[in-house]
Amino acid sequence: MPEGHSVHRLARQFGDVFEGERLKVSSPQGRFAPGAALLDGHVMTAATAHGKHLFLEFEHGPVLHVHLGLYGAWNFGGDATFRGASSIGAPRKVGEREVYDDGAAGMPAGEPAADLPAPPAAAAAAYTGPPAPVGAVRVRLVGAHGWADLRGATTCAAITGAEAAAVLTRLGPDPLRNLPGDRDAFAATLAGKRTPVASLLMDQKVIAGVGNVYRAELLFRQRLNPWLPGSGLSAEAARLLWDDAAAMMSDGVRDGRIITTPPQYWDGVPGMLPDPEEAHFVYRRHGLDCRECGTPVALTELGARKLYWCPQCQQA
Ligand SMILES: [Zn+2]
Repeated sequence: MPEGHSVHRLARQFGDVFEGERLKVSSPQGRFAPGAALLDGHVMTAATAHGKHLFLEFEHGPVLHVHLGLYGAWNFGGDATFRGASSIGAPRKVGEREVYDDGAAGMPAGEPAADLPAPPAAAAAAYTGPPAPVGAVRVRLVGAHGWADLRGATTCAAITGAEAAAVLTRLGPDPLRNLPGDRDAFAATLAGKRTPVASLLMDQKVIAGVGNVYRAELLFRQRLNPWLPGSGLSAEAARLLWDDAAAMMSDGVRDGRIITTPPQYWDGVPGMLPDPEEAHFVYRRHGLDCRECGTPVALTELGARKLYWCPQCQQA
């Protein structure tokens, strides 16, 4: 499932491509036809994300609410002015990286999507709008310079502003928004729970946007035993956990990938982001030596999700 950084990148890309534009909205598959009719021909005024939820606001009030779930993905395209990823989501298909039209996954270090080279000028002359829909496209948005197709999402609904606000009240604070008071609220929530911290990090009501990769890497980087109850963390430890989530996930928004190891662990070309096998401390490294202590990384099931951790480093 795409984690919060991917959804925030989606919001940014929707803002870049569509904000202020009057959109053609359709449901080629038909399943979202009534919602599409409600939005069709109206201006998209804002694109925001909270945790794994994406909200596209329209001038006349309705909000397009999307949660990708396990299998959802957005595909994008457009004319020569279009920049950005051509696919975000469905990590089972595209891995943790995003996919660009040249077939490259991810992007060079420190180089935001807006700086990617423009397609050849011939592409501008050739652009005549989006291609014919392929497969079960739930919703298609078309602006003057770009288009977006959604497939396979868990949630795709046209809701009211009040309903969007209600979705937010059911979610915990999002480290990528990191609003005043969020950090202390997170620490206070942990202090009141006996649930293992590894489970609390996956609870979207406790902290929004963290998924299985960030969960494992956060616990390792903070040297926390996954079974430590929330109430077992000091207020200071809880705040450090929040701050590390905010830092790592912000890096994920910048990089378009989850990279939790610092550059001294990377063996590739200086200035380039690491290979996938160098990008994490413990996630999907079970049986391999811990990068810090050499103990084999462990794999345990917790709440039907795989948990990767180092039994030596994470005893606290
Ligand atoms: Zn270790």
